[in-house]
Amino acid sequence: MEENVFKDTAQTRKGRGVGLNSGGLDSQLAMCVLLEQGVELESITFTSPFYPRNNAGKAAAALGVKHTFVDFTDDIIALVKNPPHGLGSCMNPCIDCHAMMIRRAAEFMEKHGFDFVFTGEVLGQRPMSQQRQGLNIVQKDSGLGDKLLRPLSALLLPETEPEKLGLVDRSRLLALEGRNRKPQLALAKKYGLRDFPTPAGGCKLTEPNYSRRLKNLMDHEGLDDTRLVNLLNYGRHLRLPGGTLAAVGRNKADNEAIRQAMRGGDVLLKSVNVPGPTILAVRPANEDVEALRRLCSAYADNKGIGSITISEMRAASKPVEFTLPVCDRAEFTGMVI
Ligand code: SF4
Repeated sequence: MEENVFKDTAQTRKGRGVGLNSGGLDSQLAMCVLLEQGVELESITFTSPFYPRNNAGKAAAALGVKHTFVDFTDDIIALVKNPPHGLGSCMNPCIDCHAMMIRRAAEFMEKHGFDFVFTGEVLGQRPMSQQRQGLNIVQKDSGLGDKLLRPLSALLLPETEPEKLGLVDRSRLLALEGRNRKPQLALAKKYGLRDFPTPAGGCKLTEPNYSRRLKNLMDHEGLDDTRLVNLLNYGRHLRLPGGTLAAVGRNKADNEAIRQAMRGGDVLLKSVNVPGPTILAVRPANEDVEALRRLCSAYADNKGIGSITISEMRAASKPVEFTLPVCDRAEFTGMVI
């Protein structure tokens, strides 16, 4: 950040705004535009199994802005299950998600004495939630009314309360519109911003492969058990013929997370005589028990050996070992979700 970029010459009282901060460039620019005119800011990021903690805190700190991560898991799961305005191309309920985040930000605003909420939304930049109709729905459903400011597109939108009250100088807000990112990149240069992820990154609900797994979980076990939603973030997942969900670690971090996700009724499997993944079977059906052992054999490092010993552990029981022939992964190809 260049020194004195945000030095404001006006002496009038400035507002206090709390902003949604994704850590992306638009969030950072929205903060820069307001900081430049002397507005006092804080930012918040809503986290969930679909949107883990990211660089947002670091980005805010680089601008001298206090930042808070707020858990949003219950809200977003409720919206995935029942999105009043529907889902996007994957499992992303963007309009309702935006409205709920702004509603929660409004509660934060009231609680901490801020004057308004702001976002880095840009009119027309994304389908659905950032089209004019989407912005209007978000504003209405959030219940925030004209205390919601979008500094990057403000000049294309109706005047908001902080502008009317003179807490924010409308003439120093912007009129960005559409998908062209060149204006944002030019502004990033002006403000000395260098650390920002690609646009729209970060939310797993917009990823087709993740969304497929989530839909499968929703259709079978449902989404009420957050540890199963979290489990989708680790390893590969299979749905066995009897309906059992199995998570297979791909690396050390996966294996550890999968091991820690075990609860009563689950079964944990691991190869004993050769390296192999940790496998968690969620409350397995009796008819899948044999298939699980074969799965463990198939995904173990089984080259050049004739048989594999599997350790099978149930909660509160000692592990039991089984030896079986080496199995072929091809048996499970169609079960990967
Ligand atoms: S991309 Fe994800 S976090 Fe962002 S509004 Fe859509 S559902 Fe919510």
